Amino acid sequence: MNKILPNSAEARDVAYHFHGYTNARAHEENGPVIMETGKGVRVFDNNGKSYIEAMAGLWSVAVGFDEDRLADAAYQQMCKLPFYHNFSHKSHGPVVDLAEKLISMAPVPMSKVFFTNSGSEANDTIIKLVWYRSNAMGKPEKKKIISRLRGYHGVTALSASLTGLPNNHRSFDLPFEGIKHTTCPHYWKDGQDGETEEEFATRCAKDLDAMIQAEGPDTVAAFIAEPIMGAGGVVVPPTTYWEKIQAVLAEYDILLIADEVICGFGRTGKMFGSETYDIKPDIMTMSKQITSSYIPFSAFMINERVYEPVADESNKIGVLGHGYTGGAHPVGAAVALENIKIIEERNLVQNAAETGAYMQEQLGALLDHPLVGEVRGQALIAAVEVVPPTGREAEFNPGVLGGRLNALMAENGVISRNMMDALAFCPPLIITRDEVDEVVDILGRSLNQLDTEL
Ligand code: PMP
Repeated sequence: MNKILPNSAEARDVAYHFHGYTNARAHEENGPVIMETGKGVRVFDNNGKSYIEAMAGLWSVAVGFDEDRLADAAYQQMCKLPFYHNFSHKSHGPVVDLAEKLISMAPVPMSKVFFTNSGSEANDTIIKLVWYRSNAMGKPEKKKIISRLRGYHGVTALSASLTGLPNNHRSFDLPFEGIKHTTCPHYWKDGQDGETEEEFATRCAKDLDAMIQAEGPDTVAAFIAEPIMGAGGVVVPPTTYWEKIQAVLAEYDILLIADEVICGFGRTGKMFGSETYDIKPDIMTMSKQITSSYIPFSAFMINERVYEPVADESNKIGVLGHGYTGGAHPVGAAVALENIKIIEERNLVQNAAETGAYMQEQLGALLDHPLVGEVRGQALIAAVEVVPPTGREAEFNPGVLGGRLNALMAENGVISRNMMDALAFCPPLIITRDEVDEVVDILGRSLNQLDTEL
């Protein structure tokens, strides 16, 4: 526990700043960790303590914490045209260039890009457009959306409804009606005795099919999922999962929304998670690594199947009654273009694949540790599941060991993040093997410390 000095930045933070994803009362007691600077994969707090940011902030800083080219891109754009919007047929260079670039990068044929400010806002907008489309097609009953338990799609009222995690619903009166959650494909946790990974994938697809049948196939408009679940605990899809899920969706003419907010721009060793798992989405959500989170920005792409009815409906009504002041922001678009250029020039997707394979191998070696139950991941995204010592399972509530291990990691100079007992790793795409070694050494040491404490 930190001692909070009067009038310090810590004290003023407690006095005036209401934090997201924080226990407010615990914060009053313990205060914040205040970060001051960043360099490469590291950040430094106001006491000068150095941390490897093994979560890339919030799964998001692809190019590291000191990329001058992004600062320059923002500065140049601010000097030239600091703001413009895209309402009423207006446009500007950066957004035209970025839309064209994203369409050229899409793993499947896409038609148009819509710009928003956060992952939540993008998913919220997507659901509204899916509804709009169903009305345009004369199918007003086709409105339900299927998401997954433990999926994460944001925190606005609609996107939090898509999210399949209890803390995003509890006391918020969510989820909204018409949003359903199907099975989470976590084989290690939910696979049954004697069931192979493929059999488990078949069961997940059957559960989806049964849910669609129970709801009425004509009432289900879309299915939304992350290629790899991130905030739900880094759940890597079991073999054949995506193939089987897509077959079910095709049978009932249900749109597929791939939420690429974490997986997009190289995280899984290909430019998009949809490429890694051969997913053919109708809609793709993008944020975080699109600008390395140097500036809030998000976007989604839609194919012709989605665009055409929506365009017709806007023509019938006279306008598309949706758009954000900061959507298609020129500074965000300029930063995104430069960031994507850096990812391409420096072969960061290849580094994610290669250094990522090394990270998986090194983390995998920790499976021998008595407190490690599963190591899972793909390229530069992974989770290490902490389990109680054999025979002592009843002593620990879920999340207690994960929380303690995460705290030890921070003390030892690595920022990770625990989702219950899964410790997640999602470092910047620029990470080197030596830096991976540092992270894994500190994890091994922290696991041993935890073992001693127990
Ligand atoms: N989708 C996914 C897959 C995410 O991981 C997140 C953020 N963690 C979001 C959507 C929401 O993004 P934001 O926090 O920018 O609203």
